[in-house]
Amino acid sequence: MKQAFLHRAAWMAPITGQPVENGAVLVRNGVILAAGPYERVKAESPPLTTVVDHGYAILMPALVNAHTHLELTGLAGRIHLPRESFRSWLEELLPLRPTLTPEVQSRGVVDGRALLASSGAALCGDIANGLYFEESHEEDPPERFVLHELLGFDRDSLGDALGPDGLEAFLAAARSNPSLSLAAHACYSVSAGILRGAKEWCRAGKRVFSIHVAEHADEIEFLQSGNGFCRELLESLGRWVPGWAPPRATPAAYLEGLGVLDRRTLLVHAAHMSRSDWEIVVRNGCSVCFCPRSNANLGVGRPHMELALELGVTAALGTDSLASNSDLDLFAEASYVIDNFSGIPPKQVLSMITLGGAWALGKQQSFGSIEKGKSASLLAVTLPERFNANELSEIIVNQGKKGEWQWADRCRSV
Ligand SMILES: [Zn+2]
Repeated sequence: MKQAFLHRAAWMAPITGQPVENGAVLVRNGVILAAGPYERVKAESPPLTTVVDHGYAILMPALVNAHTHLELTGLAGRIHLPRESFRSWLEELLPLRPTLTPEVQSRGVVDGRALLASSGAALCGDIANGLYFEESHEEDPPERFVLHELLGFDRDSLGDALGPDGLEAFLAAARSNPSLSLAAHACYSVSAGILRGAKEWCRAGKRVFSIHVAEHADEIEFLQSGNGFCRELLESLGRWVPGWAPPRATPAAYLEGLGVLDRRTLLVHAAHMSRSDWEIVVRNGCSVCFCPRSNANLGVGRPHMELALELGVTAALGTDSLASNSDLDLFAEASYVIDNFSGIPPKQVLSMITLGGAWALGKQQSFGSIEKGKSASLLAVTLPERFNANELSEIIVNQGKKGEWQWADRCRSV
């Protein structure tokens, strides 16, 4: 029988319930056995349990960064941010893409994982264009939920997008790795046939499917009229399909019409959504990952997160990549939301960077809250000398952003 550890701190934030003063979490073999008031959990602990006292801190579940592109980590600092438009950002990004050799991307994934671990993330949703064959099952956080990204406005099917060898390799990798799935890049860069085929595969295996949606106004214009920057982009890349008829719908309505929205569809960005778009998201049960600092850096707009949350959308936060953000620190992303979206209670923001992300990636059984049976990836966030207990969520985010936290327990330590 493995050693049990009882982590105790001045406070404990389970996320699914109210914070507990003098709280504790009993863990063994990387799994939470019990959590609650210290005296009660101590009484439940098996003999020879080691008590680890984190002192004047608050225990919380590790973070979930629901949208990253770790293979772009090597582009850190190489694109001037902020930009005035998506177009100007892409014009600087595209010439840099040839520098992203497989070695550079591979190193980016390793470096990116280290950055995520050093910012308190236990799980990430990582968009990848390759490298999933090298996926190893490291014991340290963060766990990578890899979404292989599909492109191909001028291709008809999943097989066309990946090629016969690519499809076979992907399917073989997916058989042994349940944390591997598919993402489509966007409605303006992927055909309807690929969208349907990819979602069909994900649905059959109960895996999350993801897509960037309504990130910028150019996308909205393209789906309405077939014109604008997205069309120019496709033409310049030799991917335009002559005679293509625009759906004359918003991205959300278009995707609903294709039948690819359900509770295992994760929509990313959603910066240009109408109320009826949000109603589509709600009635299909999709989750949404917001990346507000990336949106601000690309000058694409501000997502109406307040409305989404008011309507009950399952929401997560992501940092996006270091090509569009200054760091991969989800505490910093949460702090940005608290500072710039005053209508959203900090408690809800804290939930977005933990449980919301876990739901978005279909990993709510293991991550996102301190509950019996879940992963024992815990953070101990140091508390300031004086604080108001009603403001604990905001204090956690502020202290986290300042780096005032430690890993309380990693799976490997027990
Ligand atoms: Zn992205």
